[in-house]
Amino acid sequence: MDIQAILDQVETRLYINGEWRDGAEGETYEVLNPATEEVIATMASGTRQDSLDALAAADEAQKVWAHTAPRERAEILRKGYDLVKERKEAFAAIMTTEMGKSYTEALGEVDYGADYLLWFSEEANHFFGHTNRYPAKGNRMVTVRKPVGPCLLITPWNFPLSMATRKIAPALAAGNTVVIKPAKLTPLTMQYFVQTMEEAGVPAGVINLVSSKSASDVSEPILQDPRCRKLSFTGSTPVGSALMKLAADNVVKVSLELGGNAPAIVFADADIDGAVEGVKAAKMRNIGEACTAANRILVHESIAEEFATKLAKAVSELKVGNGMDEGIEVGPLVEKKAQEHMQALVDDAVSHGGTILTGGKAVEGTGFFFEPTVITGASKDAKVFREEIFGPIAPIFTFSTEQEAWALANDTEYGLASYVFSEDPDVMWRASDHLEFGLVGYNTGVVSDASIPFGGVKASGLGREGSLEGMLEYTEVQMIGVRDPYARF
Ligand code: NAD
Repeated sequence: MDIQAILDQVETRLYINGEWRDGAEGETYEVLNPATEEVIATMASGTRQDSLDALAAADEAQKVWAHTAPRERAEILRKGYDLVKERKEAFAAIMTTEMGKSYTEALGEVDYGADYLLWFSEEANHFFGHTNRYPAKGNRMVTVRKPVGPCLLITPWNFPLSMATRKIAPALAAGNTVVIKPAKLTPLTMQYFVQTMEEAGVPAGVINLVSSKSASDVSEPILQDPRCRKLSFTGSTPVGSALMKLAADNVVKVSLELGGNAPAIVFADADIDGAVEGVKAAKMRNIGEACTAANRILVHESIAEEFATKLAKAVSELKVGNGMDEGIEVGPLVEKKAQEHMQALVDDAVSHGGTILTGGKAVEGTGFFFEPTVITGASKDAKVFREEIFGPIAPIFTFSTEQEAWALANDTEYGLASYVFSEDPDVMWRASDHLEFGLVGYNTGVVSDASIPFGGVKASGLGREGSLEGMLEYTEVQMIGVRDPYARF
């Protein structure tokens, strides 16, 4: 595959009101390939003025787009879906080159990201309000769902396509226009996606793209302007919380998909081989750089040794290398800082009593690689228990009773994903009762899909993405009260 030829097709400028242009001050920033440490693109960097221009374009386009027929919006999204699928290999190569995940995983993300376009192209046409009579008579009522208005969408680097399509597709389907700001580590996938949606027929101003070396030069002017009516953010909890404060001034509707610290609970009656596979998938997918990654693996003490030995074997067999090379399963971390952070977490776990069963150090040489790692025996004070790891480190902790398992699982400020492995179907219901998490995987390490309401509780966020719930986030309810012809007054 000629990766350079693919990268050469990608626009590096801003996209505002249907036009590609440089940033107002002509500034740029560079994007690196984390496997080779080479510069792969020089991007135009948006300024505060560019951000306001993008919002103005979205605001003008909103007046027309909100009143297009749902079918028209649906057909554009459907056309976008078809084009993304046609260009699947190019999308995956761009993603692997800027972010690091294996090409196979990148192909999977293109399918997953495209699914949001398909799902919301269908949902756009099946979007109803409801009707009722006031219980004591007098009026009848009808509700209509209206688009919320111009949206600011901010996305992280770990899933450069799907974290954006799960915002853009429902926003457009519900009749909204958007300004999107991708992460500066991985803007290229979104640039190529916006080019693709332009070809799919998205009118000028409906999608605006402002990439910038300064995130606050996009978020601050837009959130301080009353024309912006919605913020949807995916990223870390501290940034999400700061943006929520900024959004408060204009009482902007907010959705936040934030960090996680997922427990994976393996009960004594679990199918151990199945649980090893599930935990490996939940932990090592995306190089461990996933908000849903199994962060704390909680195993019943009676099977802990067998489970740890099998997980360490499975993890040690993973092939680490440049994600574009054949057969690679674990690519590099996204940047040097993340690689150094992994080493600090391992050292901290060892100083809290942990034993390394496999891995435990950075891979020497070019690229930000870190060995897939399994650690047992660290205390609950270790950072790998308390913090979101965001890399290929699997720490195993033990419990002796079911109540202890639920308590350990909930012992975190986060509440996004959780996983439970047991052969007892009743455990699924007890897990649902006890676990304070938005997502529960039961005998599976995979919870994401366009059809599910994805999201967290506590410090993991507000609102849901995907499914009908994901579209409601981009609407306001209006109620029309109508005098009941049978009213007695
Ligand atoms: P991050 O918070 O550093 O950045 C996310 C986005 O916010 C980027 O586009 C970044 O440029 C932007 N940003 C940073 N500072 C900003 C500011 N002051 N104002 C406006 N925008 C700002 O997060 P990250 O490192 O890119 O992503 C990793 C985090 O994202 C992890 O915590 C992970 O759990 C979380 N995440 C959550 C989900 C979910 O669905 N809940 C999904 C993926 C990632």
